[in-house]
Amino acid sequence: MHIVFRNHNYYLKNHLETVVVNKIIELDSNGRLDCCTCKRCMSDLVAYTLNRLPPKYAYIEPGQEYARLEELSNKYGDDIETAINLGSKLVKAYPRHDDTHEKLCNDTDDGVEVFMENYVELLVVERLSDVVEKIDCCKCDHCLSDVAIYTLNRIQPRYVASIKGEAYGKIDTLHLQYETDVLRNLLEGAELVKANPMHTKEDLDKFNGNLSMRFI
Ligand SMILES: [Zn+2]
Ligand SMILES: [Zn+2]
Repeated sequence: MHIVFRNHNYYLKNHLETVVVNKIIELDSNGRLDCCTCKRCMSDLVAYTLNRLPPKYAYIEPGQEYARLEELSNKYGDDIETAINLGSKLVKAYPRHDDTHEKLCNDTDDGVEVFMENYVELLVVERLSDVVEKIDCCKCDHCLSDVAIYTLNRIQPRYVASIKGEAYGKIDTLHLQYETDVLRNLLEGAELVKANPMHTKEDLDKFNGNLSMRFI
């Protein structure tokens, strides 16, 4: 899931997601990925890897590719590969299914839907409007995106892969763990954006006074 700002179609994304997925595909096609490759195991592996790397959020418009993917891939390539190697050992040792399922799901699409999201994004969305209201910072898409990105890039991500219909049990604990950090960074970000907004006339023209943030 990703945060989208509807008026402007800004699309917020941690671009290391793409780099990590591409690296896993590359290792797998070279026969260098030593674990089950079903959707559950792959989502767990992507989440494990991303949780050990710095977040690199930026917004793009739909259909655009982020221009700095290659730069990220070069800069973090070794760290990504190390994290994937460790993660694949864990996934192999503790798959979230039994051996029978592994044999089945390697060959067939068993209809399982797996969602992966950075829990920090959920908290940011939950608190962003309150904070910008309090600080009285501009609420156009550009400014809200800037506050969200400021926050997301300063907090170690916490990706969780969950399977549709299966509840994830640790949400309350995560809430306590991340809430203070999220609020502090949102406040800092909103103060900075208020003092120095980067919006253009077009941003302001598109803004109708309503927050247009949503998840897709
Ligand atoms: Zn598996
Ligand atoms: Zn603005």
